[in-house]
Amino acid sequence: MNPRRTSKPIQIGNVTVGGNAPIVVQSMTKTDTRDIMSTIAQIKELEDYGCQLVRVAVPDAEATQAIPAIKRGISIPLIADIHFDYRLALMALQAGADGLRLNPGNISKPKKISTIVRAAKEKMIPIRIGVNAGSLPKTVNRRSSIAEQMVDVALQQIDLLEILDFDLIKVSLKAFDVPTTIEAYQSIAQKTPYPLHIGITEAGTPRRGVIRSAVGIGTLLYQGIGDTIRVSLTAHPREEVVAAYEILKSLNLRQHGPILVSCPSCGRAEVDIVRLAEEVEEELLKVDKPIRVAVMGCVVNGPGEAKDADVGIACGKGKAVLFKKGKKLRVVAEKDFVVALMREIDKF
Ligand code: SF4
Repeated sequence: MNPRRTSKPIQIGNVTVGGNAPIVVQSMTKTDTRDIMSTIAQIKELEDYGCQLVRVAVPDAEATQAIPAIKRGISIPLIADIHFDYRLALMALQAGADGLRLNPGNISKPKKISTIVRAAKEKMIPIRIGVNAGSLPKTVNRRSSIAEQMVDVALQQIDLLEILDFDLIKVSLKAFDVPTTIEAYQSIAQKTPYPLHIGITEAGTPRRGVIRSAVGIGTLLYQGIGDTIRVSLTAHPREEVVAAYEILKSLNLRQHGPILVSCPSCGRAEVDIVRLAEEVEEELLKVDKPIRVAVMGCVVNGPGEAKDADVGIACGKGKAVLFKKGKKLRVVAEKDFVVALMREIDKF
């Protein structure tokens, strides 16, 4: 695994992105931002799952007016996602947004960008240059690859912001195509010191989107690229946060709650391991300890195969062995499998 790329840290509210800060997990609400109560409720739920930054869509002036009330109801920094109308960025800044996301593909006039940048600078509010493969400006050189086009657009925007003496910058270059995304980030990582927000855009429903995101984001993180991640899924945003942490935990980049080890089951299993593992997974969502929990399908191989687990259960017919660090604790009856395991986890 490559060492992490050195990036220039920025501060979004009380969260540091880049530098030596842990890789930040973020998500985006799917409520109507103008519906203050629903938006707060969704963000509170995301906070419970460990989301550190949240972005909200700002489609009109009414949405900017909701920002102060939303901010009062939540504990994590809020980023306003602005498209097309630069005045909404100014209103969002005025309303107290902790960060802005601008898409150079749909706010491209230097004069409008300068106006936003001057206002952001006054308030020390960072801006994400959020380039998206699907909405590149018409002026881009269409003869180069999509990855190169995205990089060019980002670099042009960075130049513009730097000319205005603004460096509270974060960059993203997202595409649906995973190799394109990886290529774009690899290139920009060498050309700019700013922190990178990485993700695969429009990745899809959880079944496919989590895999696309894990392959794309995971490849980049393994190469040391990426300071904050968002998994974009066609699902409740809590799924995005859960997936983001799983990616980070898979690469040992963050500790966050338990790691579940479960065997794939085979002809030796005498209980429904799939159902049991799903039940345990659900219970573990309420646990915030960084422990390793195993659910194994047989007593013969289970404890040995999961000896790295802090605590685990190896199931036989109608009963199971509860074990700790590969050593047997006691035998429990099938009806008590989950309760006994959770009780043991409580003791950690
Ligand atoms: Fe099969 Fe047992 Fe291994 Fe599970 S732990 S895959 S049931 S051998």
